[in-house]
Amino acid sequence: MSVVVRFAPSPTGALHIGGVRTALYNYLLAKRLGGKFILRIEDTDQVRFVEGAEQYIIDSLKWCGIEFDEGTHLGGEHAPYRQSERSELYKKYTQQLVENGQAYLAFDTAEELEAIRNKSEADGVKGWQYGYQTRMGLKNSLALPEEEVKRLLAAGVPHVVRLKVPENEEVSLYDEIREDVTMHTSQIDDKVLMKSDGLPTYHLANIVDDHLMEVTHVIRGEEWLPSAPLHVLLYRAFGWTPPKFAHLPLILRPDGHGKLSKRDGAVFGIPIFPLDWTEKGELLKGFKGSGFLPDALLNFLVLLGWNPGHDEEIMTIERMVELFSLEKVGKAGTRFDVDKLHWFNATYIKAKSNEELLPYLRNALNESDLNGENYTDDYCKMAISLMKERVTFTHELFTHARYLFETPQTYEATFAAEKWTDLAKANVLQIKTLWEGEDEANWNHTDLFANFKTYTKGNKIKNGDILPQLRLALTGTSGGPGVFEIAELIGKKETLHRIEKALAEI
Ligand code: GLU
Repeated sequence: MSVVVRFAPSPTGALHIGGVRTALYNYLLAKRLGGKFILRIEDTDQVRFVEGAEQYIIDSLKWCGIEFDEGTHLGGEHAPYRQSERSELYKKYTQQLVENGQAYLAFDTAEELEAIRNKSEADGVKGWQYGYQTRMGLKNSLALPEEEVKRLLAAGVPHVVRLKVPENEEVSLYDEIREDVTMHTSQIDDKVLMKSDGLPTYHLANIVDDHLMEVTHVIRGEEWLPSAPLHVLLYRAFGWTPPKFAHLPLILRPDGHGKLSKRDGAVFGIPIFPLDWTEKGELLKGFKGSGFLPDALLNFLVLLGWNPGHDEEIMTIERMVELFSLEKVGKAGTRFDVDKLHWFNATYIKAKSNEELLPYLRNALNESDLNGENYTDDYCKMAISLMKERVTFTHELFTHARYLFETPQTYEATFAAEKWTDLAKANVLQIKTLWEGEDEANWNHTDLFANFKTYTKGNKIKNGDILPQLRLALTGTSGGPGVFEIAELIGKKETLHRIEKALAEI
């Protein structure tokens, strides 16, 4: 049987990073086993539906490099892929369960059930549920006389359809990660399968679709583990074989305290969503907009819960496909290690060619107040080669190197106070004179350094008495790439201009 997996988000908002990891593991397993990967949109909850969320999910995963074989945006042999377009199917299958005696109609109103729940709580009974212990005392087609049920139906009294959970049984399943999972049916209520508006609940739609879409592995977040025994009962009620289950461990907050939630983004200063997302007028910056590379993010994410069994850490998506298996997914939650994420991003930036990073620098330049068009691609690529070893985020290729694109307007004050002595000034002036005589044709860092060295040696000038000051004059700062490389890039005219300016202004 060929492998089919699915990612089945509800379009209720932006795609959380945990969801990206779920999609990634599904994708990797599909690719590893030569299977198919489906995107199914579970939009049965009209109240929580958010306009634009589906497109956001598609765009986000695309940015990450996670592609589907079938889905709302691609079509495919199991279409439609949006649950709101599959209502007739759910009706048909619910009807089948009712006819086979596996499900029943319930006419109790929300108010009636609320009153019963409150009363039982007042009587000291905790956790009242609509189940086999209570159903015969309630308003449903199992408890009421047939005539009464007919009458209620004829009168159009709203009703739901509930699953008839079997009495007093252990339901077991094998989870590929959690291993044996067992739940007693006394802990499972007679779940609503079809709401009074004729729309299915998550549980019913999920099972019907996984079956009809021939899903072989259900890989999803741990929060769904408690529902898995119920799902097994549903498969049994239909007479279908359940797929394999794999419930992924939680992603924990950076401080290790509990599940990483959307609110933790602001608390820990990290993005939670792949792309920017606006919610209630508030812009939540995504990984992309925060200067992360998609391949670095994926590499970080794949290791949040899985490891290849050896210490290989840097992996392309193709390599992940080669190495991925569910057996190596751990049971314990994994901490979202911000330093590690930053390390991955910096490592990936360093490994990219100047050409690959060019769009990021261009983008940052375009967003700045400078005129990016003044700089050729060659100039930008040289700037990138000077900076890429020194940044953590893509926008820093520009923000940490503004001085490669404009004459410094200010000079680091404490550094200047300490280093810009009269002696230093005299030395800087000497270098300016020396470089004035330098042929434009030899204006490269090797030649500049060579004659600088001859000069300082001959005049017994220590590097520490001249280099930091030259850097201050050229960049306005105390750190960054090599001084001679900077001088080469900005050119003779600009180098001399900057030295003159510094001598006049500091
Ligand atoms: N719609 C569910 C969610 O949003 C899907 C759970 C599942 O994969 O079965 O997480």
